[in-house]
Amino acid sequence: LGPDYSFMIRVAIPGGVLQPEQYLALDRLADQLGNATLRITTRQAIQFHGVRKGGLKPLIQVLNQHLLTSLSACGDVVRNVVACPAPFSDRQRAEISQYAKALSDRLKPRSRAYYEIWLDGEKAASLEEVEPLYGQAYLPRKFKIAFAFPGDNCVDVYTQDIGIVPWLEKDELKGFTLLVGGGLGQSHGAKDTHPVLAKPLTTIKPEQLFEVVEAIVRVQRDHGRRDERKLARMKYLVEAWGLERFKTEVEHYVGYSLPEAQPLTWQCADDHLGWHEQGNGQLFFGLFVENGRVKDHLRVAIREVVKRLNPEIRLTPQQNILFTNIQPGDQATLEAILREHGVELPGRIPLVVQQAMACPALPTCGLAITESERVMPQVIREIDTLLSRLDLQTGPIPHVRMTGCPNGCARPYTAEIGLVGRSLNSYTIYLGGSPLGDRLGEVYLDNVKREDIAARLEPALMAYRQQRRENESFGEFCHRVGIEFIREQIGASVED
Ligand code: SF4
Repeated sequence: LGPDYSFMIRVAIPGGVLQPEQYLALDRLADQLGNATLRITTRQAIQFHGVRKGGLKPLIQVLNQHLLTSLSACGDVVRNVVACPAPFSDRQRAEISQYAKALSDRLKPRSRAYYEIWLDGEKAASLEEVEPLYGQAYLPRKFKIAFAFPGDNCVDVYTQDIGIVPWLEKDELKGFTLLVGGGLGQSHGAKDTHPVLAKPLTTIKPEQLFEVVEAIVRVQRDHGRRDERKLARMKYLVEAWGLERFKTEVEHYVGYSLPEAQPLTWQCADDHLGWHEQGNGQLFFGLFVENGRVKDHLRVAIREVVKRLNPEIRLTPQQNILFTNIQPGDQATLEAILREHGVELPGRIPLVVQQAMACPALPTCGLAITESERVMPQVIREIDTLLSRLDLQTGPIPHVRMTGCPNGCARPYTAEIGLVGRSLNSYTIYLGGSPLGDRLGEVYLDNVKREDIAARLEPALMAYRQQRRENESFGEFCHRVGIEFIREQIGASVED
């Protein structure tokens, strides 16, 4: 008898798109081999938690039977390619989705070892294999790519190693703007590590997309740091070289010069919740999933909707679910199923709760320092009560995100209020991120006990109530007046 190990298995789902039978297969696996929950992640993937060692192989085999895979959902490779999940039926969306899917396929490792180990291939490892993109050593570190839809930054495009924003003119896809060098992870005590937003590199024609993206990956493969894992993400290479030298190197790899990037504008970072027309006579419905955890009555309700209405599923970068291709005549049935199982519909959930995100953290993430998903429901409702008491429940409602360590998986550094696990039961509070995801927050207070979070936010929210401009969000306000100014006004220091 060996130790009773349990594992997390992450399923890579490009763009978060699942066919109904695929979703039902994942749902069954959660009962058979997991802990009876599914966890939607901020990269539109699904995690199984609590998988026993003996369950690994059957789980991966069932995934494969349903044309799903855990390949490159983890590791030093290009991870699950994220894309805006809104299923509007216009031609541009369809075209962009095809690019996202094709790019994801191209960037998968070619190695057969995965299939040999998990799917009963003949050899155990194929050392003679050639990896055209990854070579023998793969990448220095994980690599993240996301496609935004123009104007809607729901994918947090600035937090990616490569952010891709389609350039549309008169509804024609003219090209893509590429942003490079974003990444949120940092390490406590490692001063050189920090979150960084991606910067615009170039705007290219559609037919150049694959070769330029591959060239960027190759530059990181060949020049990213391999001596220090904490500094191995591409953001540090872009910083060390500067954007101009980085661009010159990419040009060298593709063999031609790259034009300037087109300016980008953002109107929203849409959560796509509630009912929407798709544009083809059908509807989609975005269901809020608190912290992405599909369990208990919510899991039963979602299963029932999928079995009865057969919708395509889309997972969102905010850890929610979209039921798509719903016939207008089935709208009432869908709502009735959810109500029957006690599921709250969007519109009845406080906005601050609906906009919040937390990473899994304890007990399933080995890197967690503090709780996150398990305590966020309480923390966010304390913040909701505070907003109510301060009469701040109309107007822009702040986006709050929590993580159990500084890796930042739930993207707390771009949130208006970011809560980052610091040490046992203590968090660093960041303020001043943008609701559009295009600005980082700054440290407001450090080492705040979980039970004090709402109380420590109160003076800052009071200042916001008294001094905000019309329609100014909390994040904009903090950025305009400055975190230091807020601290001075309330007589606090960072370590207060
Ligand atoms: Fe784990 Fe840290 Fe990521 Fe949370 S942010 S899931 S604790 S690695």
